[in-house]
Amino acid sequence: MQDPLSRRTFLRSVAAAAGGAAAGHALASADELGGVAQPSGQGQAAADGGGGQVVISSANGLQATAKAMELLEDGQDPLDAVIAGVNIVELDPTDHSVGYGGLPNEDGIVELDSCVMHGPTHNAGAVAALRNIKTPSRVARLVMERTDHVLVVGQGALRFAKAHGFEEEELLTDEARKIWLRWKEARANGDWIAPAQTKPSPSTQSSVGSDMPLHPLGYEFTYGTINCCALDAASNLAGVTTTSGLSYKIPGRVGDSPIIGAGLYVDNEVGAAGSTGRGEAVILNCGSVSVVEMMRNGATPTEACLGLLKRMADHNHDPRLRLKDGTPNFDVKMYAVRKDGLHGAAAIWSGAKYAVSSQGKNRLEECAFLYERPNG
Ligand code: ASP
Repeated sequence: MQDPLSRRTFLRSVAAAAGGAAAGHALASADELGGVAQPSGQGQAAADGGGGQVVISSANGLQATAKAMELLEDGQDPLDAVIAGVNIVELDPTDHSVGYGGLPNEDGIVELDSCVMHGPTHNAGAVAALRNIKTPSRVARLVMERTDHVLVVGQGALRFAKAHGFEEEELLTDEARKIWLRWKEARANGDWIAPAQTKPSPSTQSSVGSDMPLHPLGYEFTYGTINCCALDAASNLAGVTTTSGLSYKIPGRVGDSPIIGAGLYVDNEVGAAGSTGRGEAVILNCGSVSVVEMMRNGATPTEACLGLLKRMADHNHDPRLRLKDGTPNFDVKMYAVRKDGLHGAAAIWSGAKYAVSSQGKNRLEECAFLYERPNG
């Protein structure tokens, strides 16, 4: 691996960009932060383990990392391993952010997005706005292997899946339908009316999705996704991201998850990265490819994730998406593993975790963060 920038140069540039959040504990001046409130802490440095086989995932992926590691230890390809891992979550009706049981679009229809990327072949496949198929990651893999394309969407993606023998199934569980119905009835247009005894409560919104906006501010959508990346014993990398996306989205809305370079990127010479959280912010900052490029330039995975998130916060000019102090009113988490086995993750807001399987242990680790969440 060639490092065009020395590690020291990289650390200096991230420290300047992140106001000290990425590369040290010193707090930045307001000038350095361009009017955005000061990061109040770095958080515990994510466990950059190093060496051997590693699987990382968003926090909802503990079963996925365990399964993927089992397959890696069995000598299977890292892409087979991560897809088998996330299939568990895609098929789990209790995870309302992924696959079967995911929260639907504004019409009450579940639409799924997913992509996969394989390091050794530098190939990728993706599907977006796919309806009625429980495991979009498997369809994404077929797009990679059985078409000349990278991304297939909507009706075309469904027809492609059916051509490969996937069966159409209803993805909206009764529980997800009721959550959607409460959202629909809580909207103020007066056409849909909640039964008098069931007042929509804020807990309806905060109980779903792993990436709720920190401060609702009337913001009524929830996020959630699984990203999973693996490094095998031969130092080959692969990754997958799969989601039902933003809840109650406009039909056809596509987030970062199926976009190669945004929700996932793998460079077999450098590392792999993925994201969860507000997809629009990840797309606008080319999230995963930027993290991989920062690692190429000498950053550790944790530094790279923080560097990208600070750039995202600096680019977040829309008043609708800013708190009074200028910080983002949403969260994004970035996850990364480097070719040498170092891994890390970071969130805009403190308190996040990510799943890791390495060195015989499957566990949750703390994410680093840009800003301390108010009230802990
Ligand atoms: N990133 C996903 C999207 O924007 C949702 C999430 O991860 O919470 O569709």
